[in-house]
Parts: sequence; structure tokens; C-alpha cells
Amino acid sequence: MTSNKNAHQVNSSTGERQEARQTGGTDTWPRPEAGAGWRPPVACQYCGSGSLASWLDRVRDHLEYVPGSWAMLRCRDCGSVQLSPMPSEDKVAELYPPVYSFRTDLDAGGRIRRLISRAEEAAFYRILHKRETGTIRRHTGLAGGNLLDVGCGTGDRLARFSRTGFSVRGLEIQPDLVRYVRQTRGFAVDAGTLDSVFYPAASFDMVTIYYVIEHLLDVGKVLWRIHSMLKPGGWVVAEVPLADSCQSLTLRTRWSQYSEAPRHVSIPSREGIRRALTVSGFEEVSILPATMMNCAAAFALSVIPAANTGRSYARSGVLRHLPRAAGGLVTLLYCPAAALENYGARRPAFGLVLARKPGEYNESSKRATNQAGRGSAGAAS
Ligand SMILES: [Zn+2]
Repeated sequence: MTSNKNAHQVNSSTGERQEARQTGGTDTWPRPEAGAGWRPPVACQYCGSGSLASWLDRVRDHLEYVPGSWAMLRCRDCGSVQLSPMPSEDKVAELYPPVYSFRTDLDAGGRIRRLISRAEEAAFYRILHKRETGTIRRHTGLAGGNLLDVGCGTGDRLARFSRTGFSVRGLEIQPDLVRYVRQTRGFAVDAGTLDSVFYPAASFDMVTIYYVIEHLLDVGKVLWRIHSMLKPGGWVVAEVPLADSCQSLTLRTRWSQYSEAPRHVSIPSREGIRRALTVSGFEEVSILPATMMNCAAAFALSVIPAANTGRSYARSGVLRHLPRAAGGLVTLLYCPAAALENYGARRPAFGLVLARKPGEYNESSKRATNQAGRGSAGAAS
């Protein structure tokens, strides 16, 4: 259920880390020192304000992979949250465990575990993707066109959008996932990041970027790149955890989106992501609640950290799936509460953020828009 796609292969064999891990679980873990690949944040990633106030302290990695503790600073202007200290660019790769994102071939060696992961995919991930694709199509009016999924993971979203008429392409940083999506699913995937792969200006009708923004060291740069890659009238669709959610405010250091430190380096508020998109040239910014099940899963991972992909799938033995199963059960039980958070308090754990690049719709978008609006156009004439 860990949802990031921006993971890296890791050299986890350093003596330094082994030693640090052996002393883990106590209150003596120090905060990383500035200067050793870590630096204090100087400004809010989302609104640019330099007014950052202490908010949370002693946030630890719930995967128990990176030793240490971090602080979370809160922007006084937009309410977004920033990790402190932040990793430098060359430090980031060390922070990701070898098994990080969910995928069905995680357990290629074990038949029972493979069956469990397949069941999980069918009961959780496929339903999520189906619902969200429908919401996105209704909101944007787009029924086709060129789509790029940044951080495409196992290609589930590519498959869903492809089925609904889009011409899809993926971008993924993990080489084994790139191979998997190319060979097993047959989609075009580029290996790398938006920094390393070139896409011509105005080449996509839609760019989707799910659970990646909170990992970025420079959010603004990536939003500008996406803006340039989109055709006029094209859409960016992002899914992000939200710092002003009920779960953020009540669970605090235990919230799974903060304890994903130091891989999550910032969490936007709704105001923060809105401002970042607007400054990057987007308009018509909407922030909808993500699916209830997704938001409930964030709660479940907060109370049962061992249910994380990086912990339950990283070790051998069927028993390792018990916390995962408990996490699934808590997710289901928490769904009514997530509904209250999303639609009662209107403070969802995750936001589905949609924004449009100004300009005239291109041809494929026009067709979709005409089809969607045919009824009202007829009534007006
Ligand atoms: Zn801010």
C-alpha cells in the first residue's frame, strides 16, 4: 500500500547503516547533521514563503530503514509541511529500500504469497484505478489523447487509461518496473525522471503524477516541466497527501505520510498545492477527495506500520503477510470514518488534484468535449 513510484535501488550493505539499525528503536537516534548530505529547508516548496515554524518533532521512518529522527516544519503562509533537514540530491537514492512499491510479481518465489498479492491487486488497486479514471474523465471532459503517467509503477493506471481510449506512455525510475511494464504489459515506458528524460513541448493532453510530488526536492521545477509538456488546454492530474487533512492533524508524527520520512520531504496543504500550480501557470485548479479506501489505507498504515509494502513484502514467509492482512481489515473498517473526513469535514487524507493549462483545446480534446456537451449545446440552439 506504499504508494510512491519514485524509488531507487539502494546499496544497503554499508556498515554504518547496519550499526545504526542495531541501535534502533530507542530514543537515542540522532537527527542527521547538516552538512553531511542534509540541509535545513530554506523556503516552503509550495508558496515560496521563508516563514517556516516548528511543528512536529521526532518523526521516524516507519519502514525502519533509515535511522534517525526528523522534524516537520509548517509554513505559516500556506500550511504546507516540510521535512527538516532535507536530503541532498545525491543522498536520496540511499533512502529507499529495495522493495518499495506494491507489485504482483513481488513474490515470484512463493506461490501462496503471489496469490495473496494478486488478490490484493484485484480487491484494492484495480478498484481504485477504475474509480479514479472515471472521476478524471468526467471532470476534464477528456476521453482520449496522449497521456504520460509520471511514476507509472506497475502500469495499472496505464492499462486503465489505455482501455478508456488514451494513447499512454509511462515514466518510471525503477529499472525492474520499467522492464516489467514493457515486457509483461506491453506499454511504452521511459526509464528515468523528468530531469533525465526529454519530452517535446506541447506533446501531451494529460500528465498524471500520483504520489510523487511529496518526494520531490524541487516541486516547482517539476510542475513547470509538466506545464511545458502539456498541449494548451491539457490537464495535469496529481494525487498527494494533504497536510491539512483530519489524519494529519490528529495522528501527527504517527501519520503514515509523515513517518514516510525522510523519503517524503514535503506534504502540501490544499492552499499550498493550489498556489504551486497557479504560480506554475495552471488554472481551474480543483482538489477532490481521493477514494475512501485509499484514505482509509493511510490510517491503517499509521496504526499498523508493519503492513507497509516495504516491510511485509520485503521478508520471506507467509506469516509476514499477517500485518498486511490486518492493515486490509482496518482499511475496510475505517472507510465510514474516511467518508466523514472526505465529505463531512472536507479534509481528506489524500487529494486528487486537477488543473488545466490555459489555451484552446486540441483536436482530440475537442471531440471529447463536444461529445460531453452535446446535450446542452442542442438545448441552447
Ligand atoms: Zn507555504
